[in-house]
Amino acid sequence: MKITYALALHGGAGVEPAANTPEGKIEFEAVLEHGRDLGLKILASGGTAMDAVEQVVRYLEDDPHYNAGRGAVMNSAGTIELDASIMDGKTGQAGAVAGMRTVKNPVTLARLVMTETKHVLLIGDGAEKFADEMKGKPGIERVENSYFYTEVRRQQLLKAQEKEKAEKNNTPPAHGTVGCVALDSHGNLAAATSTGGTNNKRFGRVGDTPIIGAGNYANNLTCAVSGTGTGEYFIRSSAAFHIHALMAYKGMSVEEALAEVVNNVLPKETGGLIVVDRDGRIAMLTNTGGLSRAAGDSSGYKMVKLEK
Ligand code: ASP
Repeated sequence: MKITYALALHGGAGVEPAANTPEGKIEFEAVLEHGRDLGLKILASGGTAMDAVEQVVRYLEDDPHYNAGRGAVMNSAGTIELDASIMDGKTGQAGAVAGMRTVKNPVTLARLVMTETKHVLLIGDGAEKFADEMKGKPGIERVENSYFYTEVRRQQLLKAQEKEKAEKNNTPPAHGTVGCVALDSHGNLAAATSTGGTNNKRFGRVGDTPIIGAGNYANNLTCAVSGTGTGEYFIRSSAAFHIHALMAYKGMSVEEALAEVVNNVLPKETGGLIVVDRDGRIAMLTNTGGLSRAAGDSSGYKMVKLEK
């Protein structure tokens, strides 16, 4: 059966500690299922992949369970700085923001960078100023930085800082970044990713999420990709673009290209990615202990899983 639309989303590499109990697992899976069904509904009614990935990521940004928007991890100064990006596989256009402190839904601002400026990536004060200019556009809301704060993340920060003192150069594992990839019934692909970054990151640190080709990529020729894990490795290896390149230049299938990057390009225990190809084939893989994810397509296939 030809797949006319397909969608996958993730809530980060590794399993959130809070999802490690039977009740926690149900709760964390339910969020992903809701996001999946919201995205599938958009695609089933003829909506675009761009709208589906943006809306799914917005939903996950608003939900406090995962590391994006509300519920994001904290930097070493105890504040929250958010990164996001979106890419349209049809046009090759992309938008991204980094170091956002007051924008409730960074993925929507990223899309406006794409449609309303000639740039790809805006950061910090400049991006916040751009958000001021976009006031009045649907989906642009401003909040105090404390809106993003959750006690769970503060405890994680304190724990990481204690550990850091004990073992020099220790990098605590990242959890909970969100992302979504989709193929729509018009044959177009899109990807969006959003994060608070890595727990206890340096103030001003930017990871792979807003770097097109590292943590996010879409190209109608091949696939749409969203990554999660320790972003520095994804940047160094252009992980998301790497998957596209293996498919485009080496003729690999989506499963082969993803396995190559996760098993042989990225170091062990550094992260995972979700991919949908132009035929609606979904592949999701991690080299960490888990990958919170959900997926579905036009055939009625649906799944959700937190573990590896
Ligand atoms: N990739 C994100 C970053 O490095 C973190 C994550 O995926 O959990 O900013």
